[in-house]
Amino acid sequence: MAASLAPLPSFDDAPDLDRAREVLRRTFGHADFRGRQAEVIAEILAGRSAMAVLPTGGGKSVCYQIPAMLRPGLGLVVSPLIALMTDQVAGLQQLGVAAAKLDSTGDPAERAQTWEKIERGELDLLYVSPEGLMQPWMLERLSQVSLALIAIDEAHCVSQWGHDFRPEYRMLGRLADIFPGVPRLAVTATADTRTREDIRAELRLQDSCEFVASFARPELALSAERKRGGGHKRVLELVAARPGRSGVVYAGSRDGVDKLAQALRDEGAPALAYHAGLDKAVRAERLEKFLEADEAVMVATIAFGMGVDKPDVRYVIHADPPASVEAYWQEIGRAGRDGDPAEGITLYGSADMAWALRRLDSRDVDDGVKQVQARKVRQLYAMLDGTACRAAAVRRYFGEEGVQACGQCDACLGEVETIDASRPAQMALSAVHRLGGRYGRGRIVDHLLGKTKDPSDFEAALTTFGIGGELSAVAWRDLIDQLLFDGLLREDPNDGRPLIGLGDGEGVKAVYRGERPVSLRKPAEPTPASRSRSTRRKGGRDAAAAPVGPHDLPTFEALRAWRRDEAARQHVPPYVIFHDRTLAEIATRKPSGLRDLAALSGVGEGKLERYGVAVLQVLRAMDA
Ligand code: ADP
Ligand code: ZN
Repeated sequence: MAASLAPLPSFDDAPDLDRAREVLRRTFGHADFRGRQAEVIAEILAGRSAMAVLPTGGGKSVCYQIPAMLRPGLGLVVSPLIALMTDQVAGLQQLGVAAAKLDSTGDPAERAQTWEKIERGELDLLYVSPEGLMQPWMLERLSQVSLALIAIDEAHCVSQWGHDFRPEYRMLGRLADIFPGVPRLAVTATADTRTREDIRAELRLQDSCEFVASFARPELALSAERKRGGGHKRVLELVAARPGRSGVVYAGSRDGVDKLAQALRDEGAPALAYHAGLDKAVRAERLEKFLEADEAVMVATIAFGMGVDKPDVRYVIHADPPASVEAYWQEIGRAGRDGDPAEGITLYGSADMAWALRRLDSRDVDDGVKQVQARKVRQLYAMLDGTACRAAAVRRYFGEEGVQACGQCDACLGEVETIDASRPAQMALSAVHRLGGRYGRGRIVDHLLGKTKDPSDFEAALTTFGIGGELSAVAWRDLIDQLLFDGLLREDPNDGRPLIGLGDGEGVKAVYRGERPVSLRKPAEPTPASRSRSTRRKGGRDAAAAPVGPHDLPTFEALRAWRRDEAARQHVPPYVIFHDRTLAEIATRKPSGLRDLAALSGVGEGKLERYGVAVLQVLRAMDA
């Protein structure tokens, strides 16, 4: 069923939806639903299953949290990661919602207590892992309990067409039979059309409505640059140009993470390293430090991220490229979750692409799956190395139609300059063809320039020998990279001594015939200064600016200091108490009493009761 066929909430649903809106206001402190939240919630409240695809930061969780609070019985939430559960449960408890989790780390007494609450019907939400839930004894025990709904978070994990397949998710298909009549909601932030179909088939949601929100993230300014040379120099520059802000830097390997974090610290940046090779306690400590700091830089492998909902991450830098467009959107998407301007910057190279394809090839999966995954890799690099709007390319990839250019990525801002390289492309393809795919990049460039050392008579006699004097060696290398990204050339890894051969036959012919132009991306190496200026160009949006004017800054800082103490006391991240945004609003509006405070966005009844008096005290102290 097409996404657009999802019905609008009918008149019959209205009273329920009114109650849902009331919960959104009173408990969560948000004025109204956004995106497709209301439709999803109406569907679940009507007792029907559904699938919802909302971008990161789009507000997926209230789609099941509110129905779980309104419908009789327990709302089960299946979540792939303990960190994710811990965060959500802590956030809900702050709001005064009866939520708990059952995971392998909990101590027996705590588990027993949780079960008592479940059996007395005192819990609204219970978070579980897929493998935890599907244990026979667990299912047996839960079948004695009345269930409000079952939410399956990060539902793309069920599909091998997705980017994060987890075999244990496959078992969740059985939930339809085990709990008939309980509405199920599959939610995810990233799934292309094929993955969505697979999720519905695997989770038995074929007859349910699908709600797909726009994948737009207007707060994100995206850019991508080819890696220049080895080393971390460019990353150091990028971080140095963004002082005083929170950022995440992704690197491809543990070793890369350690070295990059060290290099950043040597330059005085507050960098922390995070990867799966570190001791659990060290990881937990660094995570806490990052969440609590206003300006930490987390250098990490992708082991870091899922479930880390720090709202004020101002930039994500990929020191090494992500694995797919889905992974890109998810990883970049961790910046700017609070809706304020943020940046996503990706460094990539053709060697990264070759490596990704090679790794895929050695994986133990069906050829069909391999082919799909290889196409995903190529699509990622085509987007990164492309010269069109990046945000639009990603949104089209996810099947969105009628997409407009974002107006703020490097491509839209005209930072990506191109030159027509159709003729040199013909020369390069022809040279590769004549050389029979037996050589690597360097040798092909030498051939084009006629600089091959001791060429054979055969090679020296080829029409392509020395034909390429109009371009420099560097430009030829760039062009060969580009042709690799375009799939017109293909790289055979050949055990670390890569050989280059012709790629897509039809495409190559089209270039020869002059039907397919090739434009070369000019190497743009923006200086840090020009980069931050260009980010600022867009309507004065500036990721570095404080969220309040200079006049209110001391109050804002005082509120943050109070929040930091409060968070430390409770051992929770500061943002589960109040977001920066809410503190900024409090600092600007300076409510004089509890009633005024309650009117501000992000202040629900639970928060008002817990912190209202303390916040007013901070304001009064500033006044005095
Ligand atoms: P995700 O879809 O990434 O899981 P969350 O559910 O964590 O997103 O929500 C992202 C942020 O948006 C949270 O801070 C949440 O409080 C906020 N949010 C959710 N719904 C609304 C709404 N209707 N109005 C304003 N803010 C909202
Ligand atoms: Zn754009």
